[in-house]
Amino acid sequence: MLPSIISHQTEEAIRTFLSHSFEMSSPLFSRTDEYGQYTNAMEDFLNKKENLAKGPYISMSLPFRTSQLTRDYFKNLYLPFPPFQHQAKAYERLSAAEPKSTLVATGTGSGKTECFMNPVLDYCASEKGQGIKAIIIYPMNALATDQAKRFAKTISSNASLKNKVTVGLFVGQEDSEKTKVMSEDKVITCKDTLRENPPDILMTNYKMLDFLLLRPRDQVIWKNNKADTLRFLIVDELHTFDGAQGTDLSCLIRRLKHRLDIPADYLTCVGTSATVGNNYEELINYASDIFDAKFDITSVIYEDRLSSEEYLRDSKLTYFETPGNQDVPYYVSYSDTSSYINDAILAWFKDESLFITESAQSELGIEQRVELGEQIRKHRFFHRLLDKLNGEITSLESLCQDIFGSTRENLHYQLACLESFCALISTAKKAVDEDEEAIAYRVENGKLKPVLPLLQVRYQLWLRELRRMVASVSLQPEISFSDDLTQVGAETKYLPIMHCRDCHNTGWGGVLGNSESHINDDLALFYQLYFDRRPEANLIFPVKAFDDKLAKTGRYHKLCANCLNLNSFDSAQSECSSCGHDVLALVYLPDDSKRKNLTDGGSTLVAKHDCPFCNSETGLSVLGSRAASLISVLSHQLFGSFFNEDKQLITFSDSVQDAAHRAGFFTART
Ligand SMILES: [Zn+2]
Ligand SMILES: [Zn+2]
Ligand SMILES: [Zn+2]
Repeated sequence: MLPSIISHQTEEAIRTFLSHSFEMSSPLFSRTDEYGQYTNAMEDFLNKKENLAKGPYISMSLPFRTSQLTRDYFKNLYLPFPPFQHQAKAYERLSAAEPKSTLVATGTGSGKTECFMNPVLDYCASEKGQGIKAIIIYPMNALATDQAKRFAKTISSNASLKNKVTVGLFVGQEDSEKTKVMSEDKVITCKDTLRENPPDILMTNYKMLDFLLLRPRDQVIWKNNKADTLRFLIVDELHTFDGAQGTDLSCLIRRLKHRLDIPADYLTCVGTSATVGNNYEELINYASDIFDAKFDITSVIYEDRLSSEEYLRDSKLTYFETPGNQDVPYYVSYSDTSSYINDAILAWFKDESLFITESAQSELGIEQRVELGEQIRKHRFFHRLLDKLNGEITSLESLCQDIFGSTRENLHYQLACLESFCALISTAKKAVDEDEEAIAYRVENGKLKPVLPLLQVRYQLWLRELRRMVASVSLQPEISFSDDLTQVGAETKYLPIMHCRDCHNTGWGGVLGNSESHINDDLALFYQLYFDRRPEANLIFPVKAFDDKLAKTGRYHKLCANCLNLNSFDSAQSECSSCGHDVLALVYLPDDSKRKNLTDGGSTLVAKHDCPFCNSETGLSVLGSRAASLISVLSHQLFGSFFNEDKQLITFSDSVQDAAHRAGFFTART
């Protein structure tokens, strides 16, 4: 996947989607720009910087620093890789004679689980006594199941752990194929087995642990636990227990300590958390509360990555040139990844022998990508890029400025340079160190050489859903987010926007009570009345001239931009009769209501919401585009792009119900 290009295409796709969805045909909303070119309020809105999207922001994470610890650091298990520095720090804390409580706050791909898994396994293997020695609490069963597999694998591949250390997964629903013994990739899930033979390590969730402390038939699981048997209490993804859940969890932990008679400050508590920037204080306080244990700044394991200087120290510069405007490839003129990449290689390295001709799933293809990675490290642009990024996240535009100087006139060219170079970084791989044993095993099984991305290139694009949209009441209506408007001393009036998707007529919406002459611009009130189909929610369309036919089903007025007074259409005055302001818009207010009979025999007026111009019954709506529609456009683009070979979409939502609903929605659309 080439994120440098995908992020561009995504923004472009959403822009096109919105511009097509909201074509505008009404006067004032449709207009010509200063050069006489056709435009409309939506186009102008989309063209204004940062209205729709912020970013993209780019970051490249440099590799973690490796430690001096050897792979035989633990007595009972052999580490598959030399540990990272942050892992080594966790190992030293957790395998000390008196293990120290620890918070692991490193990102994905940092080997977070190993930080506590290896010390805990090593500890359990050297303890003679029976009973539960470690409890791991997970916020979601899926996480528990996933980590259970890794525990099982590590145990089965180390002779001193195998047939010695047992792990039990005790969660809500018992697997239909519950397991009673440890195997290569399974831990024990049979609850009767776990009650009868309590495991060394118990994986569970906090609701289940609550049962285990209370339910009479579960009490046998603690039968072998003496006051000093339980040594480790681990909460995975600690930060996800917020609010009421956090309170529940902290009560549960206090009850657990009480139930097992654990001496104060004996239990070693471990929490894993998402990365938290540089401010660890909040995490430390939070963890101290939840665990009722002592944490300080030395308890926190944070990411420890190479600086760009260290990372590039032993790579000698051999390429110095940035391609000129003639040579740099622009992705829009390509219809397949491979020719784009090879043209980028030619532009940056002037060397056809570096071309990527084979698939990433072939031996030669892997070699080509590793070779490209080695050459990239020798390019001065790469060094400059990493220097400027300095491990931080920065917007593409300011990165361009940093690298090329402050001139903006060549922004297109500068972006093309960055995009194509980043595309090469995303394509390149680096070899993974293997020992002889691993190589022999791989060759014997006909497996490909293991590689990692040269660097993780990350792009972030922030899109904002179009909700609570308004347009100014003026001869040149300007679309804005109502949430962005400052209310204090606002001179310009704003009203919600009504749009017909069938005939593209566009107007305002506003509340007008019986016998009132001023439009009320209260947005919330309009929404409430409009969606209740109350006739007080009026549609107000700017028009060019009086029309006899339309006049039969509506009224014409001159709307005052200053006080929203509806002046008489016939009046010869060019100023507002109410406030004297001279900006008046010719508008048409359709009579949109019909009489509806009520069950009690009476009747009431309801708004039909039919388009007065094309009579469409379904075309008219309040202008907006919610996150769900934008994401569906986005995913369509992501999944359709040939620059994306590895298609994945993860959506997050702040509401569980919403997330479930949308998951179905996106599946249907992709
Ligand atoms: Zn219409
Ligand atoms: Zn007025
Ligand atoms: Zn007034």
